[in-house]
Amino acid sequence: MAARVIDGKAVAAAVKERVKVDAAAFAEEFGRAPALATVLVGEDPASQVYIGGKRKASGEVGIRSVHHELDAATRQEDLEGLVGDLNADEEVDGILVQLPLPDHLDSDAVVATIDPAKDVDGLTPVNAGLLAHGTPGLVSCTPAGVMELLAHEGVEVEGAHAVVVGRSKLVGVPVARLLLMGNATVTMCHSRTRDLDAVCAQADILVAAVGVPRLLGKDAVKPGAVVIDVGINRTEDGLVGDVDFDAAAEVASAITPVPGGVGPMTIAMLLHNTLAAGRARMASR
Ligand code: NDP
Repeated sequence: MAARVIDGKAVAAAVKERVKVDAAAFAEEFGRAPALATVLVGEDPASQVYIGGKRKASGEVGIRSVHHELDAATRQEDLEGLVGDLNADEEVDGILVQLPLPDHLDSDAVVATIDPAKDVDGLTPVNAGLLAHGTPGLVSCTPAGVMELLAHEGVEVEGAHAVVVGRSKLVGVPVARLLLMGNATVTMCHSRTRDLDAVCAQADILVAAVGVPRLLGKDAVKPGAVVIDVGINRTEDGLVGDVDFDAAAEVASAITPVPGGVGPMTIAMLLHNTLAAGRARMASR
C-alpha cells in the first residue's frame, strides 16, 4: 500500500480538545455550559447509535446534552412545536433533529422551522443559502469535517481539481461549494454521470459521498490523488465506504479509512458548530 492513511479519529480528537477548552471558557464567561438539543423520532437503530455518539461526545467536551425522544407516530405539528420550544429556549445553543424521520413526516418542513442561529447541522434553507452565496453561516458537519481533514493533512486545495461524487444537500453540494470557495476546480458527479471512473481519475482530490459500497476502485483514482471517502455502508463484511480502500490505497497518496475517517469528524464539527452558535448568539444579545 502506497497511500498514507488519514487518521480521522486523531484529527477529530484535536478538534474536540479545542472545543473542550472553548466550552470551559464559555461556561466561565456566561455562567452556564453551552447546550446541544437532540431530537430523535422513533426507534431506528442506526439513528439511536448516531444520537448516542453525539450525546456522549457532547458530555466529553463540556457541552450539556438536552435530549428529546419522541414516539414514531409523532405528528408533524407536535414535532415542529418542540422545535419551536427549543428555538425559544435561551439556554439551548444548538438544535439537531436526527434524520431520516419516519416517512409520514416532512423532514424539509421540520428542518426549516429550526432557528438558523441554532442550526448546528447547517441544513436550514437560510444556512444552505448563505453557503451558496459564499458567506457561510453554520456549515453542515460532514462537509466541514472533510475540509478540516484536508487542512489538517496540508492538502493544497487551491488550484487542485476536485471531483465530488454525490450531489446531496447534506454532503455533496456543500462539500463542492466549500472546495470551490477554497479555489479548487470542482467537478460534480452523480448517478447520471457518463464514464464515472474516467472523470474521477482526473481528480487531485476525490470525495465520494454516494452510498454504494466500494463503487470507486483503482481505475477511478489518479496516481497521487487524495481520496476522502464519506460513504458509510453496512455490508456482510461490516462497514465499508464508497471507495474500494485496498485498491485505491495502491495508487492514492492519502486516503481516509471507513470507519475512522470522515465519520469521527462529523461529530467533532457538530461540537464545534454548537460552540460557534452559542458564542454568536451570546455576542448578539
Ligand atoms: P444521498 O443518497 O442523499 O445521495 C447520494 C448521491 O450519490 C446522489 O447525488 C446520487 O446521484 C449519487 N449516486 C448514487 N448512485 C450513484 C452511482 N452509481 N454513481 C454516481 N453517483 C451515484 O446520500 P448522502 O449524500 O446523504 O450520503 C452519501 C453517503 O455518505 C452514504 O453512504 C451515507 O451513509 C454517508 N454519510 C456519511 C456521513 C459521515 O459522517 N461520514 C454523514 C452523512 C452521510 P443522484 O443525485 O443522481 O441520485
